[in-house]
Amino acid sequence: MTTLNSIPLTNEQAAARARAVIPGGVNSPVRAFASVGGAPLAIVKAQGPHVWDVEGNAYVDLVASWGPALVGHAHPDVVEAVQQAAARGLSFGASTPAEAELAELVIDRLTVNGARAIDKLRLVSTGTEATMTAVRLARGVTGRDLIIKFAGHYHGHSDGLLADAGSGLATLAIPGSAGVPTPIAAQTLVLPYNDREAVAAAFAAYPGQIAAIITEAAGANAGILVPADGFNEFLVDTAHAHGALVILDEVLTGFRVSPAGWWGLEQADGATWRADIVTFGKVIGGGMPLAGLGGRAEILDHLAPLGPVYQAGTLSGNPLAVAAGIATLRLADDAVYERVNHAAAVVASSLSEALEDEGVEHLISHAGNLFSVAFRSGTITNYDDARDQESWRYPAFFHAMREQGVSLPPSVFEAWFLTAAHDDAAVEQIIEALPAAARAAAEAEPA
Ligand SMILES: *Cc1c(COP(=O)(O)O)cnc(C)c1O
Repeated sequence: MTTLNSIPLTNEQAAARARAVIPGGVNSPVRAFASVGGAPLAIVKAQGPHVWDVEGNAYVDLVASWGPALVGHAHPDVVEAVQQAAARGLSFGASTPAEAELAELVIDRLTVNGARAIDKLRLVSTGTEATMTAVRLARGVTGRDLIIKFAGHYHGHSDGLLADAGSGLATLAIPGSAGVPTPIAAQTLVLPYNDREAVAAAFAAYPGQIAAIITEAAGANAGILVPADGFNEFLVDTAHAHGALVILDEVLTGFRVSPAGWWGLEQADGATWRADIVTFGKVIGGGMPLAGLGGRAEILDHLAPLGPVYQAGTLSGNPLAVAAGIATLRLADDAVYERVNHAAAVVASSLSEALEDEGVEHLISHAGNLFSVAFRSGTITNYDDARDQESWRYPAFFHAMREQGVSLPPSVFEAWFLTAAHDDAAVEQIIEALPAAARAAAEAEPA
């Protein structure tokens, strides 16, 4: 049998084949399309702003690998960098000069108005590893166990960060997944986002016990949850006043909403706060498995081999991933951000217009060039607000877009990702698909 003959003919056939040998047919749950229904797309190729499924359908892609494809899919410079690295060997289990080059590049980009966000960077392979290690590091540095996280923020799937809110403010969390031991979930306090009083109450309730607050720089995993003005700075000030650290999770926002991530946007606006540990993923690897955690030297130097906090990785700083990261960051100049920002602004306003024309109640939340739609009015400040919407309108909207050749995130609780490869033609195709999708959303009925 040739390779070609073994490729299934339809998305449905591909899904059936995968379900027989892969749990749920997927290697990451959102890909199963559980919240929109229908056959998940089986992708065989991506280029620029497009992806192609097994059936040969092309789509304008608004998933962008959940963010990494900032400069578009399979950018020739990135592909060439990876090919050249591959020809020199896939992995050495030893250091490479390119790792230091990437660290320098990142530290340099995260210097805004003369202020540095991080002095050092440790590379790992996934965002989950970066936040898990950041939490261990914060505990190791402070000698404390408890962690504050916010409801609706996602930090990967490590045990302690898959915790759900307990009953009431400032109570210890319960497991957010089967298999997470209760005592581990109970090391996490899950608080409502943008709620200063809840943060103050948690520090009052557990004096000297909280190691760190972990927060998405801007929430982007329950739809966009924008930090209220001054909220990030408040978190840093409050944590520091209590001897705790702040872990700023920029896995999604880093290098996407600005050259220096969400932190960079706030700095450009005159803010002067600085987190203790910053985590990166997604764009930093340009589509390859790469992530990292950075911070002040005196904190990062607690990691092994210098310090007592253990962390390691056979494939950490993998040469192909580092090559893709360097190539992507080198490409991501001001023009790239201008293009992404412009495309996002045009698509978001066209989306709003289309829904308005059909009388569909909606709210579009923005965090720089990231945005999400919610089927409700009013404002969204936290996870409860985000969930309080007519989310049943989204599957009809999603499938109407798909039928017109636009691939959206398969959940209303995900951001839409534009890339620098979304040229006028790609943006126009999205805009032309919106009215029919808005009509489908208007005609949808609660499940
Ligand atoms: C995607 C994401 C993670 C997890 O990264 P993985 O590479 O999927 O493990 C962590 N934090 C945030 C904010 C993310 O968006």
